[in-house]
Amino acid sequence: MEDFHQQTRAVHPPVIQPTGARPLMTPIYQGHLFAYEDGETLAAAFAEPAQDSGYFYSRYGNPTVRTFERALADLEGGCDGLATGSGMAAITTVLMAMLRTGDHVIAQSSLYGGTYALLHDLADRWGLELTHVSGEDPEEVRAALRPRTRMLYLETITNPVTQVADLPALAAVAREAGVPVVVDNTFATPVLCRPLEHGADVVIHSATKYIGGHSDVMAGAVVSADPRVHHRIWSQVLKLGGNIDPTTAWLCTRGLATLHMRVMRQSENALFLARRLAGHPAVERVHYPGLESHPQHAIARRLLDGGFGGLLSVDLAGGREAGRAFAESLRLVELAVSLGGTKTLVMHPASTSHRSLDADALAAAGIGAGTVRIAVGVEHPDDLWNDLEQALAKV
Ligand SMILES: *Cc1c(COP(=O)(O)O)cnc(C)c1O
Repeated sequence: MEDFHQQTRAVHPPVIQPTGARPLMTPIYQGHLFAYEDGETLAAAFAEPAQDSGYFYSRYGNPTVRTFERALADLEGGCDGLATGSGMAAITTVLMAMLRTGDHVIAQSSLYGGTYALLHDLADRWGLELTHVSGEDPEEVRAALRPRTRMLYLETITNPVTQVADLPALAAVAREAGVPVVVDNTFATPVLCRPLEHGADVVIHSATKYIGGHSDVMAGAVVSADPRVHHRIWSQVLKLGGNIDPTTAWLCTRGLATLHMRVMRQSENALFLARRLAGHPAVERVHYPGLESHPQHAIARRLLDGGFGGLLSVDLAGGREAGRAFAESLRLVELAVSLGGTKTLVMHPASTSHRSLDADALAAAGIGAGTVRIAVGVEHPDDLWNDLEQALAKV
């Protein structure tokens, strides 16, 4: 390099590759280009692009991203994975890959708000046909089937009242009719449930939540059971471009290492709080799949391993005013949306995430004016209970 001018040498620093030892973790390949010794190899990589065969441009594949994709696919029991820049990018990519105008989708009615809005947008502007089902009754799915039904879309555990879909029964009806089943497994994580084992074809995650796990990344992921389905979804992300950034993927891989510990702790904390809250006079009702009073407790016991998740909701007897006073009286627990991080958070769905729903739609979703959602973190359970209890005393 000495022959070159300083400004040229500055553009061409050495690229160090370790010899004799290998990195213990996949490095962050933030650079999105890979150089080739000969044109023929690059042409071959271009001619038949694949996620692994010859990296050349990171939208097609990147070693750091592949580490996360393959690690998550392994935890979910799928053939391969695809990471995206957000959960919504994962959902958009899957819908665009698997559906076309005129196709019919059967979807659970209490879906994540962004998913619900996207499906309705596709129905209004792109000619998708849509039927909502409760997610509780396989016969409802059977009755909704049409010749052009091309997808059954479900969530393992719903927000905020923690409805647990009977995945095996619902998926069986769809499979019998040759209809692919897509499951958003964000709330359960592969620690508690692996939908592919229960008949799903594709699993989606907002890795923003439990997988990232520290409220500091936005990411999404898709895992498929079948390589052809996986390839179709990967081909679609090349066109839509909702790819993940390598540093974010690296943080997601790091999150996977502690996912089991965090989800177990969050589940223990949530069950502890759910039981305490259920006995408190200011609380009308607790929604938590781990409680025997939960309408799908039996399904949850069959479907979820080792715990019932970190999310619960309470209906406060005092309605909207009580909900607000409670949230504002907390000292340790923070008032914030989202879930899956280390800190315990509360929010009031009727005035935030579900504010666009009218009274009937709120009631249908099981949300009351006094419903407060608690996304449980990994703090000491006594500290959490003490904070909730002092705040309940103020409502
Ligand atoms: C948050 C969330 C999404 C959307 O994910 P983003 O990462 O926010 O784009 C989708 N599904 C569920 C169940 C979620 O909780």
